[in-house]
Amino acid sequence: MDSDYFFDLIVPQRIVFGWGRRREAGRWARTLGRRAWLVCGLQWDPTGRLMAEIAASLGAEGVELAPAATLSHEPEVADVDRLAAELRGREPGEGDFLLAIGGGAVIDLAKAAAAMATNREGAGVKDYLEGVGRGLTLLHPPLPLMAMPTTAGTGAEATRNAVISSYGPPLKKSLRDDRLMPRIALVDPELTVTAPPDVTAASGMDAITQLIESYVSKKRRPIASAIAARGLDVALPAIVTAVEDGRSREAREAMSLAALLSGITLTNAGLGMAHGVAAALGIHCRVAHGAACALMLPVAIRANLGACRGQFAEIARLTAPPAPAGRPTGGPTAETFLAEIETVCDRVGTPRRLSQVGVTRDQIPAIVKSSRGSSMSGNPRELSDAELTKILEDIL
Ligand SMILES: [Zn+2]
Repeated sequence: MDSDYFFDLIVPQRIVFGWGRRREAGRWARTLGRRAWLVCGLQWDPTGRLMAEIAASLGAEGVELAPAATLSHEPEVADVDRLAAELRGREPGEGDFLLAIGGGAVIDLAKAAAAMATNREGAGVKDYLEGVGRGLTLLHPPLPLMAMPTTAGTGAEATRNAVISSYGPPLKKSLRDDRLMPRIALVDPELTVTAPPDVTAASGMDAITQLIESYVSKKRRPIASAIAARGLDVALPAIVTAVEDGRSREAREAMSLAALLSGITLTNAGLGMAHGVAAALGIHCRVAHGAACALMLPVAIRANLGACRGQFAEIARLTAPPAPAGRPTGGPTAETFLAEIETVCDRVGTPRRLSQVGVTRDQIPAIVKSSRGSSMSGNPRELSDAELTKILEDIL
């Protein structure tokens, strides 16, 4: 039923948020089991100090840490199948769980492998992905997962899907099930301080895109909208500082909170055109998710401006800084909101044209075709192939 008074809200069982709270990892991991299979990113902890603190915390609580996989790219079907086989080979049982420490790619790999470790009805994860394969659903609960993000972007610590790619033939699809939601999301913004400026910019713009798209989505819901407004209110003033001064605690905290909230809103209210096209740019042109979202966000706002004028003006009003005393302003509008987002994109230096990320004109038909996934179904208005083609040609 499409009503403000009819909704579910799906969130992690526990969210543990705060600067330095990685040192509590053992305490919370202990509630999931005694052996943690570690799936980890590669570049987030150059000195090894942060990981040593997490390992010490687990050790103090009697939780065994078992390295299972590392990942430095967006997860592919083969990565999931390999890790799932590895986990099955170690015969996971009572007390086994996964610990994912990394960006969205690492967390999504852990989610998918946690599910495939216990579900063996298919030949591999492809059989379970939306819109491809055999359309199998999970019969058995995945292994429990604790997620600790090291970037502030995808919000994968609070989503119930894992985005998995393959390049032959090209696809980028979700494995989706409520039980993929991490049991525990432990968000320590200090884990993000080593993220370089380009990663901070792209992942931060991903979070902002997720918040805006879920706010205006066809599937929007009141709690998710309230959460999205709050996320934008903290992210928009913080992202430039986070990019320019990665050691700013205040900016990193704001972006980590916004990313977490964006995961909750996208899971509960869906996305839109920017994410639809971003997936297609990922599979056809290997554009990284965050950069693709950042590129498409202003374009998507402009395309939806007429359909959601009131909602964009509303977000602008909710997130506007107080007007300087004595200087009357016309008040925020959908147009001023779009201008603000364009300014943010320019200040953090994300790409604004498809050619900047290597897209050529002959790729546009395939991109249009592959944009029609689950994300696009949340877009507030229908876009014909012809219209989407024209939009993409205009930003080539
Ligand atoms: Zn995203």
